[in-house]
Amino acid sequence: MRAVVTGGAGFLGSHLCDKLLAEGWEVLALDSLITGAERNLSHLNANPKFRFEQADVSNPLRIGGEAGYVLHFASPASPPDYLKHPIETMKVGSLGTQNALELALAKNARFMLASTSECYGDPEVSPQPEEYWGHVNPIGPRGVYDEAKRFSEAMTMAYCRYHKVDTRIVRIFNTYGPRMRLNDGRALPNFVFQALSGKPLTIYGDGRQTRSFCYVSDLIEGIYKLMLSGEHLPVNIGNPHEITILEFAERIRKHFNNEPAIVFEALPQDDPKRRCPDIAKAKRILKWEPKVGLEEGLKTTLEYFKQEFAKH
Ligand code: NAD
Ligand code: UDP
Repeated sequence: MRAVVTGGAGFLGSHLCDKLLAEGWEVLALDSLITGAERNLSHLNANPKFRFEQADVSNPLRIGGEAGYVLHFASPASPPDYLKHPIETMKVGSLGTQNALELALAKNARFMLASTSECYGDPEVSPQPEEYWGHVNPIGPRGVYDEAKRFSEAMTMAYCRYHKVDTRIVRIFNTYGPRMRLNDGRALPNFVFQALSGKPLTIYGDGRQTRSFCYVSDLIEGIYKLMLSGEHLPVNIGNPHEITILEFAERIRKHFNNEPAIVFEALPQDDPKRRCPDIAKAKRILKWEPKVGLEEGLKTTLEYFKQEFAKH
């Protein structure tokens, strides 16, 4: 079986390529490299079952040969990235999603959309179950990402219902691990980069906002199980261990001998106050739940970041 992975040179896309190859799939990774990097895939260069093509999936896709699965992971994902590329983010969530769905339709392939907890916006219920419709500001700065993903979900369900494409939607919650970009601006790489540079860690707001961090191997396992399931409606995949950002920064700084200081900066507009997945559905239908605890995941991730920093 051959899978097409859009966004394959990104953080999650590259781990997904590894998993699919390990399960015996052939993989074609497509990526424009707007936020990803070919080096995330360099270990696969000699693998005859793997191919990489640089392509912007917001333009129509022409792919030769068969495809059993199209996994649409292309999109800037870090808030600083999508704020820097607002139009490209909206295009890849709309035109890019339709192009990927058209490819799945043409190849009679299954389709998976990488959606996000941002579909719930700044949620008024916590933890967030899949039935919750969300609380999103369409015209705020984060709207370019949130609304593009909500459009992506609506388009995916339209292709499922109208064209009978066999679709899956995974709502991914904050995930971390090796191959995140050191300068991608998300909380974990920011804190680690600051600590390694001997600078204070920047907490936005009072740090009482919460997130729930999932280690990448757990996430990819959940995604693979969802691929093989028959579920068309969205499924949350994430770690339900909720912590404040201040506590998260404290946990990270303890890994550094110099224990960097913490400074407080302005909270970005519409920054969600709480985020925690309700994973009852994933547990029930996929028999999946995360296994890697925060300390264990942080240890592996920090080792990777220290090596990356040394190359700078
Ligand atoms: P990333 O930025 O590391 O990877 C995204 C990849 O998509 C990059 O390699 C980028 O170059 C590529 N891309 C963007 N626009 C493209 C286009 N028009 N054509 C081709 N390639 C394009 O981010 P990530 O964390 O790996 O996120 C991957 C997917 O998972 C995204 O769709 C994101 O919205 C979703 N997601 C991630 C998280 C998370 O915590 N990492 C959480 C929720 C959702
Ligand atoms: N954050 C922070 N300092 C940073 C980067 C992020 O306090 O240097 C906060 C951010 O405001 C948010 C949380 O950490 O409340 C998670 O941010 P991230 O960018 O990782 O992802 P988000 O969950 O907001 O998409």
